[in-house]
Amino acid sequence: MGAELRQLHVVFFPFLAYGHMIPTLDIARLFASRGVRTTIVTTPVNAQTFLKSILNMPKLRPSITLEVFPFPAKDAGLPDGVENLEQAVSLDMFGQFIEATERLRHPLELLLESCHPDCFVADMFLPWATDAAAKFNIPRLIFHGTGFFSLCVSDVLRLYEPHLTPFSDDEPFSLPYLPHEVILTRMQLPPEYRESGETDSTRLFNRVKESEDKSYGVIVNSFYELESAYADYYKKVLGRRAWHIGPVSLCNGNMEEKTQRGKEAAVDEHTCLEWLNSNKANSVVYICFGSTVKFSAAQLHEIASALDASGQRFVWVVGGCSDNGIEHHQWMPQGFGKRTAGKVLIIKGWAPQVLILGHEAVGAFVTHCGWNSILEGVSAGVPMVTWPVFAEQFFNEKLVTEVLAIGLPVGAKKWTETASGSAIVNREAIEKAVKRILEGEEAKEMRNRVKQLKEMAWRAVEKGGSSYSDLSVLIEELSSYHLLRSK
Ligand code: UDP
Repeated sequence: MGAELRQLHVVFFPFLAYGHMIPTLDIARLFASRGVRTTIVTTPVNAQTFLKSILNMPKLRPSITLEVFPFPAKDAGLPDGVENLEQAVSLDMFGQFIEATERLRHPLELLLESCHPDCFVADMFLPWATDAAAKFNIPRLIFHGTGFFSLCVSDVLRLYEPHLTPFSDDEPFSLPYLPHEVILTRMQLPPEYRESGETDSTRLFNRVKESEDKSYGVIVNSFYELESAYADYYKKVLGRRAWHIGPVSLCNGNMEEKTQRGKEAAVDEHTCLEWLNSNKANSVVYICFGSTVKFSAAQLHEIASALDASGQRFVWVVGGCSDNGIEHHQWMPQGFGKRTAGKVLIIKGWAPQVLILGHEAVGAFVTHCGWNSILEGVSAGVPMVTWPVFAEQFFNEKLVTEVLAIGLPVGAKKWTETASGSAIVNREAIEKAVKRILEGEEAKEMRNRVKQLKEMAWRAVEKGGSSYSDLSVLIEELSSYHLLRSK
């Protein structure tokens, strides 16, 4: 009798980066709202980010606990105090960051052994997690933090290597067998595809793929209606077990929940809403490049000049500058503040993104194509100007601009770890894209399409919707796995 009544328990270990921690908390919350006990593994500094959100969930609070392990930054050669990827953005430091994370395997295994959960959901950047879970006969689900389209692109690149054919890095090549024609250049690919032989990137990538093959399946923050051809391709052609349960950000219903996501916001939400309220519907462009991208002073200057010249209204989230020691006033065009007073709201630091995107004044989103940002843009019904920088962002751009036709590319051409070394996107290109996304027939059509997707996104997470149902299927499957195991 005990086995049937036992509450399901899922342990989550998100990668220590906001783009992974934020959706993982939302996923834990979705499980908790279905009566599942959840534990999130993290480190002391990152725990604060989770805590402030969890404290805001009185009903779910008892079902979400944190397990906090000290982060061995120094042992891996990182400066003391580094605990989040945003503090370790160079590629050199990325390797050390991965190493420090791997050093958490021992305490993690002790935790799995002592609480023996029914499932372990671990990030793709923890490739050792499948074996750690297997030691205790616990199924491991993998969370990549991206959608089906880019998962398919990544697998097709690995299987058929179409990127090895072109003679030069800027020569386009086509990806075979996908539901749509997808054309990329080698310059747009992450290092694991560009580098030959054994490098840190290729080694990590191979470990990730190996652990993916051995894991119980994949949990995807997406909804079927958004990329159905690729959800089918991923499962039926590539043979992956996967469940789509998103957009997970939609579980943040009220203002507190929206403003508490991630870091402490650098703007008071009331000031922000007041400013947005003073603008007409669909008239404001929101510009944000996620949690880790840092642009060079020269690139920031180009963006500011484009905003200035365009005469449009903007909310511009200015993260740090990648040129050390260069201050805001050194790259800002002279007289910018005066000329754009009332037209541009600059947020220096963290913005309450979901709150802003959901405001009716926001008519377009200039995004680096991080998957969370794209889904949040879609869920708010906002067309996008795509400006990919690194990770799988160039793949996501193709989905937005060519498959879904809900965005326009700004013209970024080259993958880079931060934008500092990349070719600069000039002010004319930025200004042109921003105007095109707001005005004219093409803009209207994109807005209509993304509004339809927004409706579908909200329906997907409602009771009976595609994502709601897939989460039910997953929970049932995990329950029966547990019953079989306990026989
Ligand atoms: N985000 C935010 N405010 C910011 C920057 C980012 O709320 O100023 C959130 C954003 O809503 C998203 C996440 O941080 O949920 C960023 O994830 P994404 O996949 O878009 O990009 P990444 O940061 O992983 O590059």
